[in-house]
Amino acid sequence: MNSNKVIVKNLEIGGGSPIKVQTMCNTHTQDVAPSVAQCVEMAKAGAQLIRLTTQGMKEVEALAVIKGQLMELGIDTPLVADVHFSSDVAIAVAGIADKVRINPGNFAKEHSVAKSQFKKFIEVCKEHNTAVRIGLNHGSLGERIINLYGDTPLGMKEAAMEWLNMCIEEDFYNVVISLKASNTIVMATAYRLLWDAMKESGHVFPVHLGVTEAGNGDTGRIKSAVGIAALLKDGIGDTIRVSLTENPVNEIPVAKTIADYFSNGEYKGAQLAGNPSMHYECSSWDEFIIKASCDFGPLLLDKVIDDFTVSANIDGVPVSEDQIDDFKDNLQQAARRKFTKPEYIACPGCGRTLYNLEKTFNEVKKRTSHLKGVRIAIMGCIVNGPGEMADADFGYVGEGKGKVCIYKGKEPVMRSVPQEEAIDALLKVIEENI
Ligand code: SF4
Repeated sequence: MNSNKVIVKNLEIGGGSPIKVQTMCNTHTQDVAPSVAQCVEMAKAGAQLIRLTTQGMKEVEALAVIKGQLMELGIDTPLVADVHFSSDVAIAVAGIADKVRINPGNFAKEHSVAKSQFKKFIEVCKEHNTAVRIGLNHGSLGERIINLYGDTPLGMKEAAMEWLNMCIEEDFYNVVISLKASNTIVMATAYRLLWDAMKESGHVFPVHLGVTEAGNGDTGRIKSAVGIAALLKDGIGDTIRVSLTENPVNEIPVAKTIADYFSNGEYKGAQLAGNPSMHYECSSWDEFIIKASCDFGPLLLDKVIDDFTVSANIDGVPVSEDQIDDFKDNLQQAARRKFTKPEYIACPGCGRTLYNLEKTFNEVKKRTSHLKGVRIAIMGCIVNGPGEMADADFGYVGEGKGKVCIYKGKEPVMRSVPQEEAIDALLKVIEENI
């Protein structure tokens, strides 16, 4: 069953159209020149949608300027405003951005207020032909849904259906839905529950796929490929974002490799079972790990296989056994079958991040690489970080300029730690508690 078609400016999402790849700026939206420069770079790399943080009215104004400057440069890639919590900001930007990403459950504490603000928001979207993404991440569900269903895939599905049904009631169908999580099993389960519920309801909205807080390097690429492929192989997914704690431009080739692998009919996982063996001829290491993760990852995740054998040549040169073993360990962990390393949960960073996230994350990884199975989160901001790090054991969360909050589970245990001392503080808290 195809989803309905959503139009975002000049772009079609869903309705059987090819999978679209997207990314998000990590600049401060108010800094117009760097934001425009990053959008240009992203568009040239092949981003089909570009999202920018829009936390307040100043960012709404900046987004309008960015949009105008990009048009003057001949870049007409649709722009998505990323709004959290403030329904007033969502309503204001709905007349400017091509698409607005919201979590309406967080518009207000009282459900009736959130609902009425959501209706007002939809009216503005209708008026301006603005598309919407309802993005309900694991860890960001409203209190009411958590009380009813827990912070679970079922809760994510129920929350999504509630808002989608409201869109149907309001006769508004320009909506894409996402239920991301950092845990690939939670993510795949939530999307599959949602897919079945939408089919049963008789109306299927297009689906945006992504693994949140996937981290960086090989592990970020592998984890993203596993989660996204697990759904694309089921025919679920119309647009994808690979979130990496790196320069966001790096996300595009990874997302394109995954999308093309499925669109071009190269995906081989459907033919594999037992203890399968595959050989890959690739032109880069990234191409190999992404394709092999798409083939084997979903089978490991769904417990169709327990192990596999793989070999590869990169430009005709065989990949070493050590590299293959490391890839297999990373893939088993991304599919949540075997844990041989720490589990890192790191957001990609955005306009809300006020410190060098990538450098900090790499430093934390270096100093904690021995902590097998410990879940460590590195999050850009205190607004969304604590919720979205979900089931991390320990967290390093940016808390305004130059300050960091250290978490043990969901509890902040050291607040306002100066940034220069924060990695040591995190390690101290970990050492005292494991
Ligand atoms: Fe941005 Fe990270 Fe905060 Fe999410 S958690 S809003 S990506 S800084």
